[in-house]
Amino acid sequence: MPKPRIYIIDVTNRDGVQTSRICLSKLEKTMINLYLNEMGIFQSEFGFPVTHHETNYLNANLELVKRGALKSTRLEGWVRAIKEDVKTAFKLVPQIKHLNLSISTSEQMIVHKFKGKLDYASVISEMSEAVKEARESGAESIGVNAEDASRTKMDYLSEFARAAKKAGADRLRYCDTLGCDTPFTIYERVKELVDAVKMPVEIHCHNDLGLVVANSIAGAKAANDAGQDAYINTCVNGMGERAGNADLVSVILAIKYGSGMQGYSLDENVNLKMAWKIGKYASYAFGVPIPINQPGIGANAFAHESGIHADGALKDRRNYELYDFEELGRGEPEIIETGRKITAGEYSGIKGFRNVYEKLEVEFHDDQEATRVLELVRYANVHNQKPLVDDELKFIAKYPDIAKQIFTMNP
Ligand SMILES: [Zn+2]
Repeated sequence: MPKPRIYIIDVTNRDGVQTSRICLSKLEKTMINLYLNEMGIFQSEFGFPVTHHETNYLNANLELVKRGALKSTRLEGWVRAIKEDVKTAFKLVPQIKHLNLSISTSEQMIVHKFKGKLDYASVISEMSEAVKEARESGAESIGVNAEDASRTKMDYLSEFARAAKKAGADRLRYCDTLGCDTPFTIYERVKELVDAVKMPVEIHCHNDLGLVVANSIAGAKAANDAGQDAYINTCVNGMGERAGNADLVSVILAIKYGSGMQGYSLDENVNLKMAWKIGKYASYAFGVPIPINQPGIGANAFAHESGIHADGALKDRRNYELYDFEELGRGEPEIIETGRKITAGEYSGIKGFRNVYEKLEVEFHDDQEATRVLELVRYANVHNQKPLVDDELKFIAKYPDIAKQIFTMNP
């Protein structure tokens, strides 16, 4: 049997965007998918197939998969583990191939959230029906999410997971929905669960106690120790409900450089070189600054000032640096225009627009094509409500029909 691995499922486009006070436009969500793909991330939970304003964005991104623009990253949608939701998902997004189906499993939520609508037995039967429906509708991979797994009785959690496996699910998502686990409890619980059920597990943690990355790698270690693959859920820059999810870059660094993690294998497609780029982009798109002390990509992550530290780092970087800034895609100078700058936006004309794209070294076949892309760039700016970045401008020129689909919403 091959050695179990740790994969990353990034949920920025689901948990990240459902978070209070922050959001991404559909174009920004698309850029996150493209950057995750460049980073070799296994899967992006790219949205909500049952939510109507997502429909065009989801279908457009699945078209990007068809055209080969998204190759390494699977796109997976999040729905409730209810047969009706699965049916609606396939009706609105017929090409969807990967789904996660979510339902609560703790006593707290079954009693105080479902309030008699569902009990322990019907939670399992609803979930099983939903899994079967997804399989029959053509889902290639199915994850089942046990919401509030960390507060669920172990016996029931194992019973739930066994039923999910029997119905045809590929993975169980262990959700520490409230962030109450510690590395000690999550290790024990996931180990016991996987020993009992023998199926791959996703680890979905929240940072309410500041333990999110520690809990994520402890849970993944437990799954690997029990002989199964682990899939850690992350968000770029640790966005996510309340105190956030596990930060994408921190999780990768912890697996690669954490003491005691040497015997565990991270998905070899992951390329940290994109860390700086995706972190910066997400910060701009969400409008949330990167803290100065953010692991890997914070301004101070490789800065030294005090006498002993500066001297030590200059003599040998390993004196005070655990990993290299080059590995995270840092160290290249960033050029900022300090003189005249023409930008492209919602009220641009063709001359200024041409100037912007010449600088990006994008050529148009004729005036007609340029005019068409200009019109889309105007809409993109209305859509994002902030200046477009170069990669967004290039994307619109390369995939104008897909961009158009992304910007279109019909309430
Ligand atoms: Zn969550």
